[in-house]
Amino acid sequence: MTYKIIEHEYDVVVVGAGGAGLRAALGAGQAGLKTACITKVFPTRSHTVAAQGGVAASLGNMGEDKWEWHMYDTVKGSDWLGDQDAIEYLVRNAPKAVYELEHWGVPFSRTEDGKIYQRPFGGMTKNFGEGPVQRTCAAADRTGHAMLHTLYGQSLREDVEFFIEYFALDLIMDDGVCRGVTCLKLDDGTIHVFRAHLVILATGGYGRAYFSATSAHTCTGDGNAMVLRAGLPLQDLEFVQFHPTGIYGSGCLITEGARGEGGYLTNSAGERFMERYAPSAKDLASRDVVSRSMTMEIREGRGVGPNKDHIFLHLDHLPPDLLHKRLPGISESAKIFAGVDVTKEPIPVIPTVHYNMGGIPTNYHGEVLNKVNGDPDSVVPGLMAVGEAACVSVHGANRLGSNSLIDLVVFGRACGLRAKEVVKPGVAHKDIGKSAVDAHLARLEKFRTASGSTPVADLRLKMQRAMQEDAAVFRTGVTLQQGVNRMAEIYSASSDIGIKDRGLIWNTDLIEALEYDNLIGQAVVTVGSALNRQESRGAHAREDFPNRNDDEWMKHTLAWLDLSSGKVNIDYRPVHTYTMTNDIAYIAPKARVY
Ligand SMILES: Cc1cc2nc3c(=O)[nH]c(=O)nc-3n(C[C@H](O)[C@H](O)[C@H](O)COP(=O)(O)OP(=O)(O)OC[C@H]3O[C@@H](n4cnc5c(N)ncnc54)[C@H](O)[C@@H]3O)c2cc1C
Repeated sequence: MTYKIIEHEYDVVVVGAGGAGLRAALGAGQAGLKTACITKVFPTRSHTVAAQGGVAASLGNMGEDKWEWHMYDTVKGSDWLGDQDAIEYLVRNAPKAVYELEHWGVPFSRTEDGKIYQRPFGGMTKNFGEGPVQRTCAAADRTGHAMLHTLYGQSLREDVEFFIEYFALDLIMDDGVCRGVTCLKLDDGTIHVFRAHLVILATGGYGRAYFSATSAHTCTGDGNAMVLRAGLPLQDLEFVQFHPTGIYGSGCLITEGARGEGGYLTNSAGERFMERYAPSAKDLASRDVVSRSMTMEIREGRGVGPNKDHIFLHLDHLPPDLLHKRLPGISESAKIFAGVDVTKEPIPVIPTVHYNMGGIPTNYHGEVLNKVNGDPDSVVPGLMAVGEAACVSVHGANRLGSNSLIDLVVFGRACGLRAKEVVKPGVAHKDIGKSAVDAHLARLEKFRTASGSTPVADLRLKMQRAMQEDAAVFRTGVTLQQGVNRMAEIYSASSDIGIKDRGLIWNTDLIEALEYDNLIGQAVVTVGSALNRQESRGAHAREDFPNRNDDEWMKHTLAWLDLSSGKVNIDYRPVHTYTMTNDIAYIAPKARVY
C-alpha cells in the first residue's frame, strides 16, 4: 500500500526522551539549533523514570572526595575495559552536571546543613580503594523520576519540539552520512520523514532480550538495531549487567541504595556470605562480584525458599523511619511484588538483567564511530548516540551503580556542545530523493502484512528464555555455542511471523513485531560476541576461561550483523589507556584485585 508521507526539517533530531535524550535535546536547543525530540512513549514514561538509587559525582558533601578517586573506581569497576579519556571526561564534569540539575530544580534529598545528600554505593571508594565513600546523590529512592521531570520541563523551555508516540523505524543513510530518520506515527499510521544535519540516538538499552529484566517493556534497543541495519557495528554487547537484587519472580529492582543504607544479603543458613567473597567491600562489592557470589551460593545448595533458588535481602534491622525517608519506593515495591513488609521480613531477590554496557560506539563528544580503512575512531558524519544506547565506553565490562544517570547528563550535555560546533543553524538539507526511505517502508510493509503461522510472542519468549539460560551470569563455550545455535534458529524462524492486525491505527501487534525484530538482531550479536571473547572480564564470566587476559583481550569487540544470513562479523578497537589530560592514568595491573 502507499503510506501517507509527511516531511519535516530540523537542524537536530533526537530519538529518545529519557534522561540522555532530554539532556541532549535541551543542549541542542540551548545552542540555538532547531531541535526535534521523537519518542515512542510520553517523555516522563521513559525507563529513566524508574532509576532509584542515585547519580554519582564527587561533591564531597559527606566527607572528602575527589574526581581522581571516582576515576580510579570507574576504571577498576570497568575491569580495565573502559576508555580512560572518556572516563576522565565523565568524572571531571560530574559535579558540574549535578549542580546544573540542582539549579534546574531536581529536589535532591538534603543533609542537616542543606547540602545534597550522598549515599554509599557499590564500588565507590575513597583514596583509591581504601574504603567506601558517600558519592551517590539521591532524591530519596526516586532519583530518575525527579531528573526526568526536571529535564522535560527544561527542554520545553528551550523550545525543543516533541513528537510523542512516534516510533522511529530507520536511519536515512547516504553514502556513509546520516541525513535523518523515518518514523511511524502510532495513532494514525502516517509516515514521518525527519531530515536533520544531526541525528542523536538516545533509545536506551535492550534488557528485554532476556526473560527476567529490571528494565521496562519498552527497552528493546531500537536505536542499536537501526545502527546494525545501517551496516554499522555495535560494541561490547557481550557485557550484560545482572543486578544482584531483582525481586524474585517479577524482576522488579530493589536499588543498591538499599545495601548502601545498611541492607545485607543472607543464604539459607542465615549467613552474611558476602563477607567470605569480598571481605572489605562485603555487600557493597561491585555488581558483577555480588551477582556471581549469589549464584555460587544458590548453586552450592545454600539458596533460600522451597526450591533453594534465591537469596534474602534484609532491611528489617534498619529503623522504620529511615526506610520511610530514604527508601519509600522500594518498600512499596517489596510489598506489591513480593508481599513483604520490609520492616519485618527479608525480601526474596535474585540476580536480574539490568544494564547493557555495550551499545553504539562513540567518542566522548557523542559522535558515533566506525572502523574504516583500519581507523577505529572514524566518525560517522551526522550521527551521535548517548545514554544506555551508547558505548562511550565509560563502563567497560561492568558499570558501577549510579554511574549511568551521570553518564546520561554528562554526555547528553557533551552532545549539545558538539552539535553547536558542527551544525550551522538553518542550513539547507541535501536533496536525497524519495527512494532513500524505500527499504524502511518495505520492512514496515513486510511485517504489517506478515501472514506466517508463528505469533511474535512465541518467538520472543523462545529468545528470552534462551538468552536467560545460555548467556547468564556464568557462561561456558558450550552454553554460548548452544545460545548461538538457538538464536540462529529463532532468527531464521522470523520469516514465518504472522500478524493479525493489518490496520494502521494503534497497531500494537505490528509494533511488537518491529520491537522483536530489533531485539533478535541484538541477541544474535550478544551471544556471538560472548562466544568469541575467550576470557573473563567484568560481567562476562567464562568458566572455561576464568582469568582476565589483558595480553589478548584488552580490546573492545566491534560486531556487524549480516542481515540476510544472521552471521556476526567481528573486529576490534583498542581500549584508550591514555587520559584526556594525562593528569592521571591507570594502566591495567596484571592481577584482578577486589
Ligand atoms: C529499574 C532501574 C533502576 C535504575 N536505577 C539506576 C540508578 O539509581 N542510578 C543509575 O545511575 N542508573 C540506574 N539505572 C540505569 C539507568 O536508569 C538507565 O541506564 C538510564 O536511565 C537509561 O537512560 P536513557 O536515556 O539512555 O534511555 P531510556 O530512559 O530507556 O529512554 C529511552 C527513550 O528512547 C525512546 N525510544 C526507544 N525506542 C524508540 C523508537 N523506536 N522510536 C522512538 N523513541 C524510541 C523511548 O520512548 C524513551 O524515551 C536503572 C535502571 C533500571 C531499569
